[in-house]
Amino acid sequence: MNLTSRALGGSVVYRYAPRSHTIYLNVTNRCTNDCCFCVKNYSDGLSGYHLWLAKEPSVDEIWNTFQKEVRESDSEVVWCGFGEPTMRLDVVLDITRRIKRKHPHMKIRLNTDGLAQLRERKRRVARELRGAGMDSVSISLNAESQEKYDELCRPSMAGSYCALLDFARDCKKYFSEVVLTVVSVEGIDALACEGIAKDIVCEFRVR
Ligand code: SF4
Repeated sequence: MNLTSRALGGSVVYRYAPRSHTIYLNVTNRCTNDCCFCVKNYSDGLSGYHLWLAKEPSVDEIWNTFQKEVRESDSEVVWCGFGEPTMRLDVVLDITRRIKRKHPHMKIRLNTDGLAQLRERKRRVARELRGAGMDSVSISLNAESQEKYDELCRPSMAGSYCALLDFARDCKKYFSEVVLTVVSVEGIDALACEGIAKDIVCEFRVR
């Protein structure tokens, strides 16, 4: 753990494997869902990194840590941590812009619950993300129906399931790569979920 991580109580930057060329960003532990399968329910972190944060990192803390940790061989950045990155939408946009300016060869992906537009009704979230330089969006669909989604993801905001589908449609206007994903848990009809992804011309992945 570096000095910044120690001060924050957890890692802002992590990798799944030491030699991986993908770097992950963990900037919040907050989320408006409470998914029964969330990794936060049974782990303190991933791949040896502690991802619970005692304090949310500032933009400068994130940027400085990223600059220290990034390697020339890195090719991808993924917004994905122990919480929903778009809970800090402006931070995501700011850091994404900085990465694109300084490391234009790197692809940047957002892994998201797809609920930012529901939380930020006055904004144009998909357009803003693309404008900042985000290359692709991976949205957690997680279920083939609202009933099942509510049961599994326990959203705190009404209309979350419809909102994430609307967000996926909106992302299709700005991104060539939009992926809907499901977790492999009992009771999910993955085929039906794939059908939903196909209907809105998104890719599909079981994670
Ligand atoms: S949306 Fe993601 S971070 Fe939020 S509770 Fe579900 S799995 Fe965890």
